[in-house]
Amino acid sequence: MRIDIVSIFPSYFDGLTLSLLGRAQDSGLLQLRTHDLRDWTHDRHRTVDDTPYGGGAGMVMKPEPWAQALDALTANAEQHPTIIFPSPAGEVFTQEKARELASTQHLIFGCGRYEGIDERVFDYASSLGSVRLMSLGDYVLNGGEVASMAMIEAIVRLIPGVVGNPDSLVEESHEDGLLEYPSYTKPSTWRDRPVPEVLLSGNHAAIAAWRREQQWERTRTRRPDLIDGAASDQ
Ligand code: SAM
Repeated sequence: MRIDIVSIFPSYFDGLTLSLLGRAQDSGLLQLRTHDLRDWTHDRHRTVDDTPYGGGAGMVMKPEPWAQALDALTANAEQHPTIIFPSPAGEVFTQEKARELASTQHLIFGCGRYEGIDERVFDYASSLGSVRLMSLGDYVLNGGEVASMAMIEAIVRLIPGVVGNPDSLVEESHEDGLLEYPSYTKPSTWRDRPVPEVLLSGNHAAIAAWRREQQWERTRTRRPDLIDGAASDQ
């Protein structure tokens, strides 16, 4: 998979060379490049923002640097890319969408700042690729960098070969609509807190049934909004 990230703060992404994402790049499963939006400006101050038409607080990102960035990044692309603009006004990013995006060949992330990007950029971008505005959740961040990093991590770990043991991806929260069951490791009693008996029993069927019940119970208490969807998936 190829991922291009456009941002006015490319150094935010230095951490993506660590851990699993770093190994994915070393092994050639992932080609990740960051780009400074200001490289596509042509004035002395490398300006990327201007005042909003119609008035109002804050600044808006100018369309032309974005168009030039997207033109450059799609010019020799073999595949029609998916262009993701993180936005609190977008569709909510979920595990299901991470899985869908993990099977694409080329993703471009466009990180907004200030009050966001001139709306016409999204229409222009749709002539170059398939455009998705995606939200991490119902809150507002300062920019698209942290949102892009979260989405990239969730997507890349689903590329086959990135996580060493693929079984560890199967039983995770949100994979089947439920939250994951609780996990424990040694010692069997820690600071007067014992591990649930059933996990020490060696009875695999009983352990599986207990874990399933825990998934339902946790989801009912912590995320009742997921229950209807999970029940219809079963
Ligand atoms: N004025 C915008 C609005 O009300 O929809 C918010 C702009 S926000 C301060 C600046 C940038 O942060 C956005 O362009 C987007 O890239 C990013 N951002 C903020 N909250 C986000 C969220 N919940 N999910 C994804 N990206 C977000």
